[in-house]
Amino acid sequence: MNLDDFKIEVCSKMTAVEETTLKIMTPGPVQVADNVRMARSFITTNPDLDKRFYDFYKETCDLLAEELHTKSNVYILDGEGILGLEAACASLTEPEDRVLVIDNGIFGKGFADFVSIYGGEPVLYTTDYHRPVDTAALKEFLEQDSNFKYATLVHSDTPSGVLNPVDEICPLLKSYGILTVVDSVTGMFADELYVDNSKIDIVCGGSQKALSAPSGLTFVAVSSDAMKAMEQRKTKIRSFYANLLLFKTYYEDKWFPYTMPASCIYGLRTAIDNVIADKNHLYRHKCIAYAVRKALKAAGLTLYLEDGYASSVTVFNVPDGLTDRQILDKMCNEYNIMIAGCFDVLAGKVIRIGHMGNNANISDISDTLDALGKVLNELGFQCMADMKKVFLKSLEKE
Ligand SMILES: *Cc1c(COP(=O)(O)O)cnc(C)c1O
Repeated sequence: MNLDDFKIEVCSKMTAVEETTLKIMTPGPVQVADNVRMARSFITTNPDLDKRFYDFYKETCDLLAEELHTKSNVYILDGEGILGLEAACASLTEPEDRVLVIDNGIFGKGFADFVSIYGGEPVLYTTDYHRPVDTAALKEFLEQDSNFKYATLVHSDTPSGVLNPVDEICPLLKSYGILTVVDSVTGMFADELYVDNSKIDIVCGGSQKALSAPSGLTFVAVSSDAMKAMEQRKTKIRSFYANLLLFKTYYEDKWFPYTMPASCIYGLRTAIDNVIADKNHLYRHKCIAYAVRKALKAAGLTLYLEDGYASSVTVFNVPDGLTDRQILDKMCNEYNIMIAGCFDVLAGKVIRIGHMGNNANISDISDTLDALGKVLNELGFQCMADMKKVFLKSLEKE
């Protein structure tokens, strides 16, 4: 087969696949806009040697910094959100450093592993997974013990959907001289985030959540205090790929620690431009999230959280007598819509609807709630209300 025939075949297959593609209504990855997919097919250059690529990369990082309201330097790393979290811990942790791991969710607790791997001593501060961290209670704890090099916490912990008030917690930690590392992979661009006002030292984001690019990239904003802490280490950073210090002079030196994934970054840039062009981006997330909660509750479902709902995802308990698999499989197989269960301590217990980024639109959420209502009724859970109707009505009132 010659190359042109091959291209035609692949392209026609892609169209056919698209028509039967699942609607991805999960809490990341989410649906990707056409212009982002197209940008990933732009002609590529040699990102190590082409000076224009360094400008493009830096401009993209600067745009992210602007959108995150920070003067910190932003670096895009070639890897998933998890790489950003690990890089923050790898770069800051020295043997025997005490690190406060704020744990009111699965990702929150997960930071303890990164701290241990790099030789630090994680100290868990565990609170109720059904609600946000209470800043006043944390203050009481810190009055007894505040000897920590840094603290980790999650802005919005996706398995439960809890949104933590990083704008209160991080300034408090900082007032005790504790650096802060925040996982805002699902938080940013779905809920408000003012990095500098919140005194956050390292904040981590990902491509595939509210920004709505495909999975594959993480980015970190690093404050000058965090950079200083890395430079003043007594021991070397025990990683190359996760060493944030190596990025410090990439622009002046025209040198990246490894070859950057140009196509992914083209896609990311277009996704950022999409968010910037959408003037009602955060407000839209708030309204949709509110209306989804209204609809689920009206149907007689119960939400996992008692308080502190993120705008990115809604998490409800699997009704008694049903399993998550029954609901998820029926949604996929019969309605072509993918929603998510959960993992770790929440495995089998809850179901999650992702409504961040491109998923935060009336039509896709209406379809999802409509299908969910039918699935539940067919499985023997009688919905007390038509979720799609309640959803649409709740939006009118906002
Ligand atoms: C998605 C997500 C991550 C990153 O997970 P990946 O599997 O690396 O994409 C990290 N933290 C939170 C809170 C997330 O939602």
